[in-house]
Amino acid sequence: MMPDVEKILIPSEEIQQKVRELGGRITEDYRDKNPLLVCILRGAVIVLGDLMRYIDLPCEIDFMDISSYGTGTSSSGVVRILKDLEENITGRHVLIVEDIIDTGLTLSYLKRSLLARNPASLEIFALLSKPSRRRVEIEVKYLGFEVPDEFVVGYGLDYAGAYRNLPDICVLKPEVFQGDGKR
Ligand code: 5GP
Repeated sequence: MMPDVEKILIPSEEIQQKVRELGGRITEDYRDKNPLLVCILRGAVIVLGDLMRYIDLPCEIDFMDISSYGTGTSSSGVVRILKDLEENITGRHVLIVEDIIDTGLTLSYLKRSLLARNPASLEIFALLSKPSRRRVEIEVKYLGFEVPDEFVVGYGLDYAGAYRNLPDICVLKPEVFQGDGKR
């Protein structure tokens, strides 16, 4: 797998340090609450697993699988829910756990749809953000890293289903994409 990697953007030790720090902040902010971490499948599963172990509070998890209508590389902002939450979030303190925010369209749609269910609070955790690509304002309370406008993989993020198990956040060699518009 490593031969496909052009460079490591964020090494795993740095990711762990940041996720631990954010877990500590969440622990402080949600003291005496029982937050529900909503993991957006599939890219956020790895960070969810690490993050929840750095949260020193009773907390619960749930999962949502969504797909964005649009071309392979740009989302349209209209999101289809492929798998909905099991939990009723009315009156719950909900924290969405996302891997990366690009245009922001997916999360802003999702946020609106979850707010309609009347949670007690709704905040966003995102491991990565590409601010240069943003098309809608979206407030991210807990942000790991800002990254440049490059297609990244690893630590849960995929390209065509692969590379999620890389421990670092990486950029792939251009030839891997074979001109499909990702770079
Ligand atoms: P947005 O609606 O913010 O444009 O799209 C966010 C989603 O696009 C992310 O949840 C992720 O699935 C995908 N995405 C955006 N940029 C990247 C990237 O650099 N690498 C990977 N693997 N997925 C990305």
